[in-house]
Amino acid sequence: MKQHPSNYSGLSTFLTHYTECDHADNAHLSPIYQNSVFVFKDCQMGAAIAAGETPGYYYSRLNNPNHEQLARKLAALEAWDLMRQAPEEDPEKLAGGLVFSSGMAAVTAAILATVKAGESLLTQAALYDGTYLLLKNLLPQYGIKVVWVTDNSLDGWQKAFAAHPQAKLAYLETPVNPSLRLTDIRAVSELAHQHGARVAVDNTFATPYCQRPFSLGADLVVHSTTKFLSGHGQLIGGAVLTTDLDLLKGDLYQCYKLMGATPSPMDTWLANIGLKTFELRMTRHCRNALRVAKSLESLPGVEKVNYPGLISHPDHALARVQMLDYGGMISFELKGGLEAGERMMNRVKIATLAVSLGNVDTLIQHPASMTHCNTPREERLSAGITDGLVRLSVGIEDPSDLFNDLLKAIEG
Ligand code: PLP
Repeated sequence: MKQHPSNYSGLSTFLTHYTECDHADNAHLSPIYQNSVFVFKDCQMGAAIAAGETPGYYYSRLNNPNHEQLARKLAALEAWDLMRQAPEEDPEKLAGGLVFSSGMAAVTAAILATVKAGESLLTQAALYDGTYLLLKNLLPQYGIKVVWVTDNSLDGWQKAFAAHPQAKLAYLETPVNPSLRLTDIRAVSELAHQHGARVAVDNTFATPYCQRPFSLGADLVVHSTTKFLSGHGQLIGGAVLTTDLDLLKGDLYQCYKLMGATPSPMDTWLANIGLKTFELRMTRHCRNALRVAKSLESLPGVEKVNYPGLISHPDHALARVQMLDYGGMISFELKGGLEAGERMMNRVKIATLAVSLGNVDTLIQHPASMTHCNTPREERLSAGITDGLVRLSVGIEDPSDLFNDLLKAIEG
């Protein structure tokens, strides 16, 4: 019999035990339910499950034990603080979620479930390129109005809500990919709720180890589970978690079911295995990133380092209040701009030149020509993505090896 999650003192105990072995056959790890359908005992049982009158599995696009297990774990992880404040409460009454075949599918579902044709959403001007393009090019074709809050201060958000009081959603990404600037989740949530709007936060960069948006007032949390949550670059996946259980069972489930962006059972099983070491990995990612960021900042060849844990970061004061740790992502610019950046990225030996992030090994890439190549240059520059910006997803390697690799690559 598994314990209530609030009985676990620390994340690692929870992550290694919660939801495991809830299923049959005494397997130490949950089996992979690699099947499309589930068998009914009789017609009555099939009809009752189909009608939602009896809980049960039916068809893997709609539900599957591996998906459910991962969704429950992620929801409880994001609701960790809420669970500890209400230890008597059933954790599934505090938050729930659904898992998707990619982070982009999760972003799309979170938005489609909360904003309808003719309605508007407010969002910050700087976002992950995929989300930016979805909001700029695709969703407006279906009647969703997107209002870009170019001044990301509280004043900017107040003006945006005053001009669009009927907006249904404030969509945030903080720290944002790749400039690492922050948005004040608590302040925007208070404002949004005064206007009857929901708040969704893409928590991919921070992860629930470093930031718990539900505790700051957000209603939905979106993840690319491709990244730190699964941790080894072994899959593509996404999740939407929410404290709004009516939304979960209603419009969000509807999007999940009909978009058909369901992950494979194998991928959700792999993500669940990855999560077991999540706390350990994040401790090391954060420690390494702070050390590398400080070391980079001290080099004469480096123009600027963006890391929320540095005192020099423009949002450091907010990071100290809003974040529990500062994460594994850094971006920086070299003196000598693009040319110097390219030279360096071609020289690294330990860091791998590849997009994506959150792997146990360090990844390095050039946002202007890679992850953000579709964002027009002017908009890219105003989002802090200069031609010379280099993005580093700091892994769990020995920090001296990492720093020496970067140093040799920068100094030649
Ligand atoms: N959100 C952020 C912040 C990202 O960085 C990414 C991908 O890099 C996504 C969402 C999309 O995730 P996926 O590639 O799993 O669809």
